[in-house]
Amino acid sequence: MARYTGSVCRLCRREGMKLFLKGDRCFTEKCAIEKRNYAPGQHGKNVRVKSKLQGYGLQLREKQKVKRLYGMIESQFALTFRRAAQEKGVVGEMLLSRLERRLDNVVYRLGFGSSRAQARQLVRHGQVTVNERKTDVPSFQVKVGDMVSLSPRATKNAYVLASVEAVKGRGVPKWLELDAAALKGRVLSLPARDDVNFPIQEQLIVELYSK
Ligand code: SF4
Repeated sequence: MARYTGSVCRLCRREGMKLFLKGDRCFTEKCAIEKRNYAPGQHGKNVRVKSKLQGYGLQLREKQKVKRLYGMIESQFALTFRRAAQEKGVVGEMLLSRLERRLDNVVYRLGFGSSRAQARQLVRHGQVTVNERKTDVPSFQVKVGDMVSLSPRATKNAYVLASVEAVKGRGVPKWLELDAAALKGRVLSLPARDDVNFPIQEQLIVELYSK
């Protein structure tokens, strides 16, 4: 599956906000947003700031921001939107729910990876199991009651252990339960709108794809 391989800090700078794509570095003064909070490129300082955008431009930026936050390319994101639109309920909320229920996001939320990219790599490398079955598809949608755990090899990985230590301070969302000692997590409920603790105006994305 295709994926973005360029500098992820450029993506944050383009969106004008921290998207937390680099794990621990995002919380340090080395963060590119702390040092150069303007769009990348030769004319980056002249790029119109989001507060001045309207209509299509605003909708596009919101979609790009969320797509980048979850580490997806356009085709994956558009497919997720189409599937969300087929579900019962408010389309924007269904979209966020689907994004949150992706296995790579759940692994990240449980703290097994310090970023979604690291969590995705764990999934891709077959280090994650769902209900004790190896599952190496990052877009896999978890259900209520699913148990997400790591392979014996991953439970000894120093990066994983450091990430879990860090998440103990931050906590996990209330729709998930973490057993940090056993490195296992359970899905307690489906994620609700307030469980997405990042500023997102999902209605703008719905408007964009409804054109
Ligand atoms: Fe974004 Fe993290 Fe890079 Fe800062 S360090 S610009 S938050 S990816």
